[in-house]
Amino acid sequence: MYHQPVLKNRRTLLERAEKFISDIYFTDCNLRGRLYGDTCPLQSLSSFLTPKRIPFSEAVTQTFQPYTVGDSFGPTWWTCWFKLSLTIPDKWRGKEVHLRWESDGEGMVWKDGEPVQGLTKEGEKTSYILTERFQDGEPHSMTLYVELACNGLFGAGQGSMIAAPDPNRKFSVQKADLVVFNRDVRELLTDFEMLVDIIKLLGEGDQRGFQALFTANEMVNLCDPANPSTFPAARNLAQKFFSQRNGESQHVVHAMGHCHIDSAWLWPYEETIRKCGRSWVTVIRLMEKNPNFIFTCSQAQQFQWVKEWYPGLFSQIQRFVQKGRFIPVGGTWVEMDGNLPSGESMVRQFLEGQNFFKAEFGNYCKEFWLPDTFGYSAQLPQMMQGCGITRFLTQKLSWNLVNTFPHNTFFWEGIDGSRVLTHFPPGNSYEMKGKVEDLVNTVKNNKDKGRANHSAVLFGFGDGGGGPTQLMLDRLERVWDTDGLPKVCMSSPEGLFRALQDDSGLLCTWSGELFLELHNGTYTTQAKIKRGNRQCEVLLHDVEVSSCLAMCQNKTFSYPATKLQEMWRLLLLNQFHDVLPGSCIEMVVDDALVYYKEVESSGTRLLEEACKALVSGGQADACTAVLNTLAWERTEVVSLTEEGTAPPKLALVKVPSVGLAVIQEDVTPSFPVTITTQANGTVHMENGILRAVLDQRGCLVSLSLVNTNREAIADGCLGNQFVVFDDVPLYWDAWDVMDYHFQTRKPVLEVVKPATVMSSGGLRGSVCFSLRVSGHSTITQEVILDAECPYLKFSTQVEWAESHKFLKVEFPVRVRSPNATYEIQFGHLQRPTHRNTSWDWARFEVWGHKWADLSEHGFGVAVLNDCKYGYSCHQNTLTLSLLRAPKAPDVHADMGSHRFTYALMPHMGCFQEANVIQCAYNLNFPLRLMPKAASHQQPWSAFSVSGDGVILETIKQAEAQNNALVVRLYESHGGSASVTLSTRLALREAWHCDLLERPDPKGGVPITSSGIPLDFRPFQVRSLLLHLE
Ligand SMILES: [Zn+2]
Repeated sequence: MYHQPVLKNRRTLLERAEKFISDIYFTDCNLRGRLYGDTCPLQSLSSFLTPKRIPFSEAVTQTFQPYTVGDSFGPTWWTCWFKLSLTIPDKWRGKEVHLRWESDGEGMVWKDGEPVQGLTKEGEKTSYILTERFQDGEPHSMTLYVELACNGLFGAGQGSMIAAPDPNRKFSVQKADLVVFNRDVRELLTDFEMLVDIIKLLGEGDQRGFQALFTANEMVNLCDPANPSTFPAARNLAQKFFSQRNGESQHVVHAMGHCHIDSAWLWPYEETIRKCGRSWVTVIRLMEKNPNFIFTCSQAQQFQWVKEWYPGLFSQIQRFVQKGRFIPVGGTWVEMDGNLPSGESMVRQFLEGQNFFKAEFGNYCKEFWLPDTFGYSAQLPQMMQGCGITRFLTQKLSWNLVNTFPHNTFFWEGIDGSRVLTHFPPGNSYEMKGKVEDLVNTVKNNKDKGRANHSAVLFGFGDGGGGPTQLMLDRLERVWDTDGLPKVCMSSPEGLFRALQDDSGLLCTWSGELFLELHNGTYTTQAKIKRGNRQCEVLLHDVEVSSCLAMCQNKTFSYPATKLQEMWRLLLLNQFHDVLPGSCIEMVVDDALVYYKEVESSGTRLLEEACKALVSGGQADACTAVLNTLAWERTEVVSLTEEGTAPPKLALVKVPSVGLAVIQEDVTPSFPVTITTQANGTVHMENGILRAVLDQRGCLVSLSLVNTNREAIADGCLGNQFVVFDDVPLYWDAWDVMDYHFQTRKPVLEVVKPATVMSSGGLRGSVCFSLRVSGHSTITQEVILDAECPYLKFSTQVEWAESHKFLKVEFPVRVRSPNATYEIQFGHLQRPTHRNTSWDWARFEVWGHKWADLSEHGFGVAVLNDCKYGYSCHQNTLTLSLLRAPKAPDVHADMGSHRFTYALMPHMGCFQEANVIQCAYNLNFPLRLMPKAASHQQPWSAFSVSGDGVILETIKQAEAQNNALVVRLYESHGGSASVTLSTRLALREAWHCDLLERPDPKGGVPITSSGIPLDFRPFQVRSLLLHLE
């Protein structure tokens, strides 16, 4: 061997090997040209076109018309069913025979009434193996069906991937025939491909690269493509190279098959169901052929879909789950957005997910899995720990536009101190292909070299599904332990994380949020989805609280557990990481809004039923009572007339904590609201707490606290200033707002209707005005000051028809602080108001929930809102993001009418002492009117919490037990607290439980005469299981 003269010319040797396997050059004489043998046409091919996604049983009863390969059909989102009759020629005995199928649509092969394999050109799946070795006795003829979706792996974007779908795209089948597949050629090609990649990737600085070069070169010498008997010698040579082993210290790659399927994105939810079917049935085929193959799969919702639509496939999956090869991961209902869902929504993601996995597969997941989500809340570690999860995998922070995240394997510590072992696959992808490049990058990019010697490689086509291929498995199969490359093992999340845990002594800790320095427009895009999310979260909270109270008060009332689960699942589905962020196509937005509507109408009905059960018996002397679902006493002005009725009939009502009170219509406030218009057109409003001065454009000239005369608005500045920015990102339109948008700031100055008084005072003073943003867009706002209310409300209506503009509202305040505070799930965190370092300024647009606050010692100003999530704060200007106008992937994103409310709340002291947190809840959770209450109904409170800072957030029926409640509380101030939870309900016993409602094995909690004493660490979330008498 190596006896021929081989000159020192690396380039020609390398290119010679490349040309030997090229699919473009020299295919007449090279190895690639021999991959396929004889071909044979199908006996017949016919088709049937339908606009709907119908089951197989319905499709096969339709009339199929003859179809000629190349003919086009469509349009986008339709389905073309094909019936194929085929006969394998006799003379192909001993050969491997494939059905070759190439189309730009996504296909599923059906055989004997069952789905058997996906066919997607973009996912490198263009053949279905009819027989691996055609033998006597095997049937020569068969009938197959192919269900072809008129969309590609990434939908049908017009011109670019993320452009809005082309509704009129035509599709075709370009190839449909039988072909002899030369497996020995495929194997040898794979050897060559791996060697060529090793030569290129290890480069000239590495002697292994040259060993690969000479091996490949000699293989070309040995191999005659026309003579398969020469192949074994060449393969042996490759095998010899691949089996030269590493030393003991080499990095270990844990390879796992994966298939990221966005639950909806550039295609609607309904298509995702088929994407799951196509992708997962193909995984099962690969498992049958590759006994070591392991596949990881997330999102309970997708399993649920497959269970409903493909029960046969679901049973096969269950069998492979039992074998530990098809591994459910993640523990959540969907891979949700990591920023915007509320604390309780996050808990329900895990609760619904983990309960599903436990019920269907026997186990809870141990890993949280969000490879593709746009940032991760600092509250997630505590949520994971509370749901039996101690490990987390993602890679999305590799997309940071500004700073490189410093770790790949580390401990992530949340705001309460909970820690989880976290891994970012250093290959920076969740859809690797098992190539040499993936392995080399994994080692090279690992930022914890010497600290962590194990990494994940997730391989398989993703986003639109597809998953692993045989070729990916064949690549990895060659290099389990090849000197120069990391060691590879087919592994599982358990295998990876156990290895990382066992050797975690040198790992670093990252404390606080994992902020993605990209996609910051997703806090604002698709405002109606954001509003639907917030409103449904509030509604489900209120339905649960009121139903629990009704269940305890009225034995005839039954808790609507099934209905609530359905509603929660719809809400959780819409929290998927391309839906709630607003990065989806218009069809998905439409579906999402329909789901919100369903939750809203069912929720409203359930709330009414619960309220009715709570106040039943008052027919004779009926009057209106008010329900307060929050755990503190509230004194507020409520409107007794339908929204939009002018003037509204108002009443001031005091309602106890988690309780109800009858409205006394003659209650007068201690300080009625006064409102006066000055000669220059400015309007003064005052309620004994706040004094506001508005100019004719609705801007706040002044806002001060009456008692201390402390001014909130910065000198010479105007609050409530609307501003518009040009908003043209670099590529990801719906996703990104770039730092440079600040340079295009334009105040909205044109007045359509100057500030005029709407409500003249007493219980409510309000002022209305309209502004023009442009020729197409207007803002109409009612500024409302209620009696007894510590904040000024801005009830806003926007007609929005812009292109690539960003609307915000600014509040320059008289506060100096290096940090602003933002509410997150069950807590809050701080972010800088300065732009010192790249880590500071990269957070120029951030997310928060119901409030954000900017405070100096002794004084601060908070902005509250009822459905917004985007904020920015630079120096002393706190800004709320309102509306964007991206054009891709939804060309109509955010066009139309919008309604939202925000509020401004200046306060003395810190925001904790000033009850900013409670006020933000009050703004979001309206007091609910309960008609037909008995007038003798005394104010009544079901639960209250004594002591500061602890919020009782959730009251629900326990999942598994009808006669038990689960209540969830959290410490909201960021300090240790000792409180007592009191209840009027008769309790038999109380237990601490985790977020999955599993009781604390250490025993019950004492119930004293004053209630249940509870201790909290800062931001701790605690759940209690309360067994009712
Ligand atoms: Zn995704």
